[in-house]
Amino acid sequence: MSFTLHGLGVSSGIAIGRAMLMSHATLEVSHLTITPRMVDKEIARFDAAVSAVKSELILMKESTEHAPAELAAFIDIHTMFLEDPELAEKPREIIRERRCNAEWALVQQMEHLVEQFEQFDDLYLRERKFDVVQVVERVVKELLGHPGRAALRTAKNSKEDALIVVAHDLSPADTISFKEHRFASFICDVGGATSHTAILARSMAIPAVLGLENARAAIRDGEQLIVDGLRGVVIVNPDPRVLEEYQLRKNQLELEKTKLKRLKTAKSETIDGVEIQLQANIELPGDVPTALDAGAEGIGLFRTEFLFLNRGDMPDEQEQYEAYKKVVKGMGGRPVTIRTFDLGADKDLHPEANASDRVKTNPALGRRAIRLSLAEPKMFHTQLRAILRASKHGPIKLLIPMLAHAHEIDQTLAALERAKSSLRGEKVSFDENIEVGGMIEIPAAALAVGLFLRRLNFLSIGTNDLIQYTLAIDRADEQVAALYDPLHPAVLMLIAHTLASAEKVGIPVSVCGEMAGDPDLTRLFLGMGLRTFSMHPSQILRVKQRVLKADVAAIAANVRKMLRLDEPGKLREALEKLNAG
Ligand code: PEP
Ligand code: MG
Repeated sequence: MSFTLHGLGVSSGIAIGRAMLMSHATLEVSHLTITPRMVDKEIARFDAAVSAVKSELILMKESTEHAPAELAAFIDIHTMFLEDPELAEKPREIIRERRCNAEWALVQQMEHLVEQFEQFDDLYLRERKFDVVQVVERVVKELLGHPGRAALRTAKNSKEDALIVVAHDLSPADTISFKEHRFASFICDVGGATSHTAILARSMAIPAVLGLENARAAIRDGEQLIVDGLRGVVIVNPDPRVLEEYQLRKNQLELEKTKLKRLKTAKSETIDGVEIQLQANIELPGDVPTALDAGAEGIGLFRTEFLFLNRGDMPDEQEQYEAYKKVVKGMGGRPVTIRTFDLGADKDLHPEANASDRVKTNPALGRRAIRLSLAEPKMFHTQLRAILRASKHGPIKLLIPMLAHAHEIDQTLAALERAKSSLRGEKVSFDENIEVGGMIEIPAAALAVGLFLRRLNFLSIGTNDLIQYTLAIDRADEQVAALYDPLHPAVLMLIAHTLASAEKVGIPVSVCGEMAGDPDLTRLFLGMGLRTFSMHPSQILRVKQRVLKADVAAIAANVRKMLRLDEPGKLREALEKLNAG
């Protein structure tokens, strides 16, 4: 019988294949009472299972080449959980006190921890409960005598070309094995858009649907499935007509992808010979290969705050230096724009401690980004020194987020001078002429752009925040998401004003917000005079495709007319015409 399940499409694409069910070990655990004499033996059995899983994780990390950067981090998180007394010690106490079997003790402790994680306000931290469950699952499987990779080993030998993993939940360590096993897709009962599984699916370009609630129970091993990762739909036992239609769409998507790949080495230049820089936004040093693979001509935005998140301590100068050096060396002479940490607001270092403040005040308007850096001079000094030290390994530019005031720029430049002078004192070499740029992401900065142009070497427009602050829409609040409009005339006016003002004085400007990666806006930006775009690597070739077909001279006049429109309907119509022409 054919039926359809709806979930959250977290990674787009279409997969057609047979279901391969993965077991949910914690559901198989029974409660056994043991005799006092067996307690020590049971604890030893528990310890052995924990160390076996630890070794398996270490092996997995070492043996998987080209793993996405996030994966190594996830394996580290799982290893860290396994080493935490809450998981490594507490179940031993439960075994001793309640005289129960190891599996049961572990699952009791897991449920207690999951409850604690559910109390967090922060979505990211809340979702870490899945990591606890996943790592416990792995130990339970070991205790039950069917370690995690058994199912995957079977799949490797299978003759079936396309296998779709159906699971209640998947650990990142499971997900990594998908490369060697050629899984076409995976679907899960649980998981949100920011869950590790979702992040991994996107970075591995595997279509995935999460949050299906009861897929694991409703689907049987070997049933035929269609996974539509864009729409978040799973069709079980499709009828021949639906299957044919999806097969056709899948082929079309593959063809488009192959065509796009051919553009990787094409010079990024318009029909009338205007050179356009297409750069990548990255979050971690491990993203560099993906950026290069997409043909990025540089890093336009390295969001360094991600080096500070999901950890109990701060990265010290040496650790930061290594990270920045890795990026600049990896980019092999291409420019790398390192943004100083944009912590605060949704990228909070202490979400639990600040939870009550968040209710009272809007952190997006609070001590965030450069405001926090200037309030924490020691932390800022450490980062500036690390960036400067890395600048001797290749072309690095320094980018400052969320500037609004002239005195913030002046203070930043003074802090940079202090960092330089401390390095000079220690005879450490760095690029004395490192360029300093500012993010234009507050309407005040766009309107009074002159004071930025006088003090800085380049600008980068952060449209994500510019839209948030211009339209008074909290970008993290789903309830007002429909009002978040990149094409609002006020937003376009601010971008156009910034570009035109910078052009007059010959200061380079890029756009590094999500708008830069939207191919439907490429012609509009080109017509406005933008020559440097920075975006998620997955968008680079799509935008390049539009660049190669654009004639800037012809577009510019139309865009000028378009920017005089302030009726949203008319603006949209004009954009459609611009893109069709
Ligand atoms: C932006 O605001 O557009 C931007 C690129 O910065 P972030 O998304 O990191 O705030
Ligand atoms: Mg921003």
